[in-house]
Amino acid sequence: DKELYEIAYVDALTGGDNYASFKQKWKHMEHINGFIVAFDIDRFGNVSQLVGTEKSNELLKEVCDMLKRQLTSEEMLAHVEQDEFILLLCAKNPMELQKRIDLLGKHILSMSMELGMPALHAVFGVYAAQEVNNVDAAYSCAIQAKNTIKGNYNKYCGFYNDASVVQAKECQELADNFTSAIEHNAFEVWYQPKINAQTEQVVGAEALVRWRQLDGSMISPGKFIPVFEGNGMIAVLDEYVFSMVCSQQKKWREAGRNIVPVSINVSRASLRIENIAQRYSKIAAEYGIDTSCVQLEITESATVSDENLEECLKELHDAGFKLLLDDFGSGYSSLVDLYHMPFDVIKLDKSLIDYIEENQGGQLVRQMIAYAKSMGRSTTAEGVESKSQLELLRSMECDDIQGFYYDKPMVKEKFASKYLKA
Ligand code: C2E
Ligand code: MG
Ligand code: MG
Repeated sequence: DKELYEIAYVDALTGGDNYASFKQKWKHMEHINGFIVAFDIDRFGNVSQLVGTEKSNELLKEVCDMLKRQLTSEEMLAHVEQDEFILLLCAKNPMELQKRIDLLGKHILSMSMELGMPALHAVFGVYAAQEVNNVDAAYSCAIQAKNTIKGNYNKYCGFYNDASVVQAKECQELADNFTSAIEHNAFEVWYQPKINAQTEQVVGAEALVRWRQLDGSMISPGKFIPVFEGNGMIAVLDEYVFSMVCSQQKKWREAGRNIVPVSINVSRASLRIENIAQRYSKIAAEYGIDTSCVQLEITESATVSDENLEECLKELHDAGFKLLLDDFGSGYSSLVDLYHMPFDVIKLDKSLIDYIEENQGGQLVRQMIAYAKSMGRSTTAEGVESKSQLELLRSMECDDIQGFYYDKPMVKEKFASKYLKA
């Protein structure tokens, strides 16, 4: 009986409770005034790889022992699997709990340092419920709360009712609906014209994706692009938008319209896919569209270190695509990129244009345009909203203008009838 009991309820790694035992004890507890807490070590897999399984198991045991010493008699701790633990912690209120958890987190960090181990960053997720009938459900909420703070080294603790959890759920929903949205053509491409500053003729357009919902409303890319950049689906979306634009260009040309080059936004995450230059050239060729008619805007992202980027851009450029450096001046892009990479056009970010009427801001943009020119690059100003901005940009010899002053992004039919001469 003893052996069977141990197999069922004693955790092999820590010698303490396992999850089944936690749940058993929970059942027998009377009014619980506590919080269900999920706990693990961020990127523990990396630590294991670095120090080996044996050492990392010892380390987990140390962490577990330390936590146990900090618990009161009404509290509980159990090892669930790998580096995952469940706790029942008591506190008068969430603030008090947070303080305690922060201390635990700091303690675990300094413990790992003292042992000469890689720094251990503990993450805790809290589900605060008055009454928990279903431990599984409560634990899964606590895990969700924990996942929202992963990678954020200033934080040890996330709460289930935080806005971030709601947001994470929304993101999950977006991700879940992606494939069916592609299948049902729910992604629409809108077009915003680019106008030559001197002649005021249309010289191109930018393709901007929108997600049409069943109720007819639209979700803007600011909401879903970051989600898809996070889960890798962005490559599928970008290629899809690219195909849609090629197909549209073909239709417009066949309808006898004078087409203009249309630029597509390509996330840096998309550039990581194998042979992107070949894939995109092939799609353009299938539609009989010359690569000069579909330009690529490389959107900046926070994760810039990418050794293959230069090579990849060169291949795209060699395949005949014009490359636009998007959001220049927004903080992510750098002058070094401009110098090394084969960009043809620099798109000055709206944040620069917003300050153009101030003395310093104007000087900055003037210098940037001159610098781009000196390197043989042309410039497009983004987010131009007023006539005075336009006139300043014209005086600075900015080549092209994109912004609400001329037009907002619009559906393809409107763009064609307004800007593409038959
Ligand atoms: P972006 O590439 O910098 O595109 C310009 C954004 O500024 C667009 O927002 C456009 O509607 C907006 N805009 C243009 N002129 C003005 C103006 O005068 N005033 C103001 N306030 N805004 C202006 P949108 O369509 O919401 O797109 C946001 C971002 O989402 C884009 O920024 C781009 O980075 C990304 N994005 C859009 N479509 C795609 C796509 O197909 N793939 C990828 N990877 N990213 C995309
Ligand atoms: Mg863009
Ligand atoms: Mg931009």
